[in-house]
Amino acid sequence: MNRVYNFSAGPACLPEEILKECEREMLCFSNTGQSVMEMSHRSKDFKPIIEDAESMVRKLMNVPKNYKVLFLQGGASTQFACVPLNLKGKHGNAAYVNTGVWSKKAIAEAKKYIRTDVVASSEDKNFSYIPKIEKIAGDYDYAYICLNNTIKGTKWNYIPDTGNIPLVADISSCILSEPLDVSKFALIFAGAQKNLGPAGVTLVIIRDDLIKECSADFMPTMLSYKTHADENSLYNTPPCYSIYVVGKVLHWIEKNGGADGMKKRNEEKAKLLYDYIDNSSFYFSPIEKDSRSLMNVPFLTSEGDEAKADALHKKFVKDAELHGLVNLAGHRTVGGMRASIYNAMPLDGVKKLIEFMGNFAKENACNE
Ligand SMILES: *Cc1c(COP(=O)(O)O)cnc(C)c1O
Repeated sequence: MNRVYNFSAGPACLPEEILKECEREMLCFSNTGQSVMEMSHRSKDFKPIIEDAESMVRKLMNVPKNYKVLFLQGGASTQFACVPLNLKGKHGNAAYVNTGVWSKKAIAEAKKYIRTDVVASSEDKNFSYIPKIEKIAGDYDYAYICLNNTIKGTKWNYIPDTGNIPLVADISSCILSEPLDVSKFALIFAGAQKNLGPAGVTLVIIRDDLIKECSADFMPTMLSYKTHADENSLYNTPPCYSIYVVGKVLHWIEKNGGADGMKKRNEEKAKLLYDYIDNSSFYFSPIEKDSRSLMNVPFLTSEGDEAKADALHKKFVKDAELHGLVNLAGHRTVGGMRASIYNAMPLDGVKKLIEFMGNFAKENACNE
């Protein structure tokens, strides 16, 4: 069977050459006589795998020396609790910017552990833009943003000034899609399954001074950054195989020009798709131009009748599947279509999608 172009928001497509490499090494990694899946995480064979993954993160993201790089479990969603539990300090208050579903979830979780102020929001226009913020100021233990909003398809094209307030960012759906100045953040985290590898591992990059003994007496050991920082992500069994694949994907990113190379590749794909959508009378993008994501591209048809539009979108997704273009349905809370075009999506996949979109428009519209 032929492989499809997978536009899923996550888990997402991986570079085919990496999958083949994993296949070659499945039964016997290097000269170990065993699969990485079978290896003790404390063995001399696994140690270089996790050390290499860490050093590649440091290299490709230019991580300053005073930051720890952690490989954790529980997905990005577990970080919604870890952040307030670990960063709550003398103010007992945190600033959040609400730019959609993932920041809403982070806010709801944080509220259990810390007072939260929503200092800006784009909910007034259905999260179709990123708010412009001069400065986040006040007595806050940290400020929190979601850098790329996977579901609505918006991204911050600037980093807000927070002065001395530690800035935390969820970068799950944009990590290494373009260069990012890590030193501007106190903590960033990302589930691997969008841009870095398989599900099961979450990358946390945290500045040293934020790693401390937690005051909360109910603090679960596994949710404390100190636990994992002290043991270099080997306090307990880490997701060994996922870390191994992430390492491979990081080398693939390096081979393809690193973060700069990814930016160039991603901008080319995104421009092609957005330009096509903007020039079409059949499709449109609900997102303001200067807030558009490079990674997640939602689009709708200009059909005005809601029920008819819904049926048309369902048909689009089904027909696309028949052409080997899969997972194009918008998030269940949004509807319409969404093409996630992460690092590993080849330019050819986007070209095929646009070709399909053109044909679908011709077949389903009277004015295209
Ligand atoms: C996918 C995603 C999450 C949730 O990740 P899990 O690993 O499934 O918990 C959180 N934030 C953003 C921005 C995402 O894209």
